[in-house]
Amino acid sequence: MIKAKKRGTLIVISAPSGAGKGTVISRLLEKNKDLWLSISATSRKPRTNDVPGETYYFFTKEEFEDKIKEGYFLEYASYADNYYGTPKEYIEEKLKSGVDVILEIEIQGAMQVKKLVPEALCIFIMPPSLKELKRRLIGRNTDTKEKILERFKIAYKEINEVSKYNYVVINDEVDNAVDKIEAILKAEKCRVDRIEEVVLANEEEYMHEMLVDIN
Ligand code: 5GP
Repeated sequence: MIKAKKRGTLIVISAPSGAGKGTVISRLLEKNKDLWLSISATSRKPRTNDVPGETYYFFTKEEFEDKIKEGYFLEYASYADNYYGTPKEYIEEKLKSGVDVILEIEIQGAMQVKKLVPEALCIFIMPPSLKELKRRLIGRNTDTKEKILERFKIAYKEINEVSKYNYVVINDEVDNAVDKIEAILKAEKCRVDRIEEVVLANEEEYMHEMLVDIN
């Protein structure tokens, strides 16, 4: 009776550094093989656990700036002295073919996407407390003290911007957070603005069909 739009959902997920977003998204992707995570480009140096072409495409600052001029990015931002951006390639193609696309990006980029694609679904993952955020940032042990402090300052600002998102998910426990995101994605598929067409017979045929066994 209802024909739903085939187009996939553009899902933006942001979180302050240390909120555990990476783990939540990995688990979400493991459980939902039909979701597609866009691989971003960055000018930051690879960390030990980075795999070029898998975690990020790594560009020099100059290469990144050339790509900006070429119009290669859907959005990009400067974060902690480095560029980060979402390559446009593949995204429209994936959405058109009905695949849900996840962008794991920071807030400036998220707001650019929201402007370009107002129906994008924006989810903010929140750490359970500032104390836990600090513990996670220090525990990660991959950055210098200065970098950690800088990220902590950025996190403070970002948490204040949560109201610009559609949903907030507190990452107190990974499985809980994943369950909540799955529930949000399910609800999204039921929105009435996803209806392309209500397929009904004309009213006369409809009434005939409904009344045929009555009496
Ligand atoms: P990290 O250096 O820890 O991998 O990422 C730093 C921040 O950059 C994170 O908040 C991450 O979500 C964000 N980020 C990663 N890729 C992109 C992107 O393509 N665009 C934007 N705007 N932010 C990104």
